[in-house]
Amino acid sequence: MGWIWGVAVVVAALALALAARTLLAGRRARGGNVMSMKKQRGKTTRCSHCGRKTDKVAFYADPGGKVVGLCRECKTKAAKNGFLPI
Ligand SMILES: [Zn+2]
Repeated sequence: MGWIWGVAVVVAALALALAARTLLAGRRARGGNVMSMKKQRGKTTRCSHCGRKTDKVAFYADPGGKVVGLCRECKTKAAKNGFLPI
């Protein structure tokens, strides 16, 4: 009868490994989303407010909840206009 327990242990171990893999895969997918978001941000070199090209934009949420990338000049005015830094 000992072999039945051996099989049970193997089946349990396989189930655990599968569950762990599913969890890990989910985590990896979420990480991928973060990566693609970072890539998109890096590509944005145009100010959403004045349309000027800039080497660096700061991301803000406007009062309506829309995300905008602002150049240095617009950034200084953003706080007064109710924009929230992200
Ligand atoms: Zn601007």
